[in-house]
Amino acid sequence: MKGGPSALDPADWAAFRAEAHRILDEVVDDLACVGEGPVWRPMTSETRAGFEEPVPKAPMPLGALYDVFARSIRPHGAGNRHPRFFGWVHGGGTALGAIAELLAGSLNANLGGRDHAPIAVERQIVRWMRELFGFPGTASGLLVTGTSMANLLAVIVARTDRLGVESRAQGMAGHRLVAYTSSVAHACVERAMEVAGLGSSALRRVPVGLDHRLDLAALERMIAEDRRDGLAPFLVVGTAGSVDIGATDDLSALADLAARERLWFHVDGAFGAFGVLSDALRPRLAGIERADSIACDFHKWLQVPYDAGFLLVRDEAKHRAAFAQRPPYLARTARGLAAGEPWFTDYGVDLSRGFRALKVWFALKGHGTEALGRAIDETCRVAAYAEARVRREDELEMHAPVPMNIVCFGYRAAEGADEINRRIVIELQESGAAAPSTTTLGGRLAIRAAIVNHRTREADIDAFIDAVLAAGRRFASELAPRREPPTQ
Ligand SMILES: *Cc1c(COP(=O)(O)O)cnc(C)c1O
Repeated sequence: MKGGPSALDPADWAAFRAEAHRILDEVVDDLACVGEGPVWRPMTSETRAGFEEPVPKAPMPLGALYDVFARSIRPHGAGNRHPRFFGWVHGGGTALGAIAELLAGSLNANLGGRDHAPIAVERQIVRWMRELFGFPGTASGLLVTGTSMANLLAVIVARTDRLGVESRAQGMAGHRLVAYTSSVAHACVERAMEVAGLGSSALRRVPVGLDHRLDLAALERMIAEDRRDGLAPFLVVGTAGSVDIGATDDLSALADLAARERLWFHVDGAFGAFGVLSDALRPRLAGIERADSIACDFHKWLQVPYDAGFLLVRDEAKHRAAFAQRPPYLARTARGLAAGEPWFTDYGVDLSRGFRALKVWFALKGHGTEALGRAIDETCRVAAYAEARVRREDELEMHAPVPMNIVCFGYRAAEGADEINRRIVIELQESGAAAPSTTTLGGRLAIRAAIVNHRTREADIDAFIDAVLAAGRRFASELAPRREPPTQ
């Protein structure tokens, strides 16, 4: 091949343009009606089989590729775009986000470093996050896949700060570090301790009160005990929006305690941290501005398409000390393309990094923080509506308070309630009526509805509760012990 166009670019741009327009039209049609039809459509066996073909050797034209997408992939998503998706904590995404993904893809930017405009966009996100969370102008930040990664990086920054930068070379053998978080903190904090080489047994789970907030007196006792045993407490992870019921620890008190005990204070604010955009929720996040680091997700309450998590670190030098390297092939210069110190690769484990910043930038600039804050408030209002409806129904009961947007409840039954509620959730998911998930609270299985999607309205809640009641009655009668012999 010499001189000609690349075989990997379109041979006929006019034909490509026409195909791309057709696809974009269909994508917009699809986005305009994400609330129609079932929430989730399980894959058929033919669809599953379609994903088992061997590595393709020959090309498939764009139109045909798109048709496979439209037939086999798009109809069988998890359903989190749909207003009646309540499972786990999933963002709903936006049309704006989809366009931002297309534009970012068209640039093929690598944000590991160097001097180019996409880097300036991510730097602007960092500045905006400092401002939102009341951090100093010197704080550093980094877009990552999600809060699981942001929590891991925070544990590594805190660890390196405590043990000294030499520990990067020496490793963790014989360390005495211990960390603390509440018993309802997300499991990824435990995994972060494992991956950081500290071990999950070095993570103390502090009990919580009935409100699911960390018990500060218990934490102080545990720290004192560990110090007596010759261990080295180094980190406390507070939660802003627990994944089970949406509880937020007393972050001010945790900041005080961390200062007193000289611990790194990290906040897992995966979804809850963005409560700072809501006038109603902001007061309960007081103290977050005193954290040493914050992890949060743009892909949950801020509706940015997956994946987009973020880590903010108060002390840039400590952040950089944990990760930066200077191999000769990544040398920095004052001018030219290798300028633009510091590079984002200095703040984490990825060298090649995509342009996640653009979809976050689109969300913040395109909607503005006021509309995003109102969308957050709306999910809380809809959750309160759901709670009120549950309380009105004699057959249902609440399993936990609703501090924000997560409603945990169940169908009442004298016997077999866990089994009935488990079946209700699967029935609702499989029928496509709604998609709640489950959790266990006080040893009992609860139906858990996290209202995260900006599209969810009261009518969706009513349809959901009606479906829970119908399924509950059916399973309760199926499971009820037979008292009389069946009559003909
Ligand atoms: C979702 C969540 C996580 C994990 O975040 P990912 O973005 O899924 O990695 C951690 N903590 C809390 C409180 C969460 O809600």
